[in-house]
Amino acid sequence: MIDRSDSVSIPIERGWEDIREGVRRICDQFPNEYWVKNDHEAAYPTAFVNALTGAGYLGALIPEEYGGSGLPISAACAVLETIHDSPCNAAACHAQMYTMGTVLRHGNAAQKQKYLPGIASGELRLQAFGVTEPTTGSDTTQLKTRADKKGNDRYVINGQKVWTSRVLHSDLMLLLARTTPPDQVKKRSEGLSVFLVDLREAKGQSGGKGVEIRKIDAMLNHNTCEVFFDNLEVPADNLIGVEGQGFKYIVDSMNAERILIASESLGDARYFIRRATEYAKERVVFGRSIGQNQGVQFPIARAHAQAAAAELMVKKAAALFEAGRDCGAEANMGKMLAAEAAWAAAEACMQTFGGFAYAREYGIERKWRETRLYQTAPISTNMILAYVGQHVLGMPRSY
Ligand SMILES: Cc1cc2nc3c(=O)[nH]c(=O)nc-3n(C[C@H](O)[C@H](O)[C@H](O)COP(=O)(O)OP(=O)(O)OC[C@H]3O[C@@H](n4cnc5c(N)ncnc54)[C@H](O)[C@@H]3O)c2cc1C
Repeated sequence: MIDRSDSVSIPIERGWEDIREGVRRICDQFPNEYWVKNDHEAAYPTAFVNALTGAGYLGALIPEEYGGSGLPISAACAVLETIHDSPCNAAACHAQMYTMGTVLRHGNAAQKQKYLPGIASGELRLQAFGVTEPTTGSDTTQLKTRADKKGNDRYVINGQKVWTSRVLHSDLMLLLARTTPPDQVKKRSEGLSVFLVDLREAKGQSGGKGVEIRKIDAMLNHNTCEVFFDNLEVPADNLIGVEGQGFKYIVDSMNAERILIASESLGDARYFIRRATEYAKERVVFGRSIGQNQGVQFPIARAHAQAAAAELMVKKAAALFEAGRDCGAEANMGKMLAAEAAWAAAEACMQTFGGFAYAREYGIERKWRETRLYQTAPISTNMILAYVGQHVLGMPRSY
């Protein structure tokens, strides 16, 4: 008989209907015109983020003792999926959820007490995640930003980050920096440390020295920036966990991040499939609805099948995560499959809407641009395939 004592059940229903309903009500207040205007002005969607925070949705993963809702990851997935299954986009605030992996698991009691209640109430934003650097990209362990200990109570940061999203709208940043030179560590993943940088203090240091932030003119309104550190002093109290073990902490939170981002992609896929299906039924050309043509119908149907399959993998990853089980393979595969399904749906929708897809008022082209991102960030598809090839299939390491 098969021993099922360690089995994990995957829910068939989407679940968290009350949360989905509440988030939907908020999203209804922020129609496509709101996002088109923000996109045009490269503005941060402050009102939207405040509405989500006020209703408690961004504190979903923060334990109740710190003022959050203490919900499991599947509830946070429901929040993000619902946002993306609408004209809205969660990129302005989703980091608040995935940074929790590092802070909750590895932050000490004093750090949690100091920051989590403010984050849960919306008084403090932890939206910036400084990992990627211009010269090292996906090769994270080779990053060059340095944090040098000064006395017992401070670190001095020097270096540069790129694509640090939301940093201009965040009070805190999780920063990965090198504390031990690469030639003095045994493994290349060692010698990196995570800091919770209080940007409010940093921006005010010695007449603006310390941190310089420059916005990147990008293809989507992601409020993403270059960040330059010039002798920025960070209290040693803000080191998360043990010095030199930071890469492990960041990797730890990456499974949560993959599952959460995959849920956004599932929402995107559903949005595009619904919009494309409705339009294909309504739009009449050559005396019949365009959806009657299989050339129009099949790409939408295929994207639906892809999204439905990806959803199962994402649910499996979330169920394993909630059971405290290893979910690296499922989280990576779920993220890749969901991002690909969303992109297939986006492409099908663009094509179905014909020329009207390009008119901003239809809410297709902007979502199409936004959806493309998840093939590249927070991790590109090749890196996921390398993970599967190496860790799941046991093939040689490729980098
Ligand atoms: C809008 C936006 C927002 C972002 N927000 C953040 C953020 O908030 N914080 C943050 O830290 N980062 C952020 N990023 C950065 C993002 O995570 C990186 O762009 C991504 O990880 C890829 O790194 P790279 O751009 O340096 O590409 P590279 O590492 O230069 O890679 C370029 C291409 O080569 C491929 N490649 C590289 N090496 C290999 C290999 N060994 N095998 C196969 N293929 C390979 C990659 O898959 C990719 O397709 C953001 C990026 C964007 C565009």
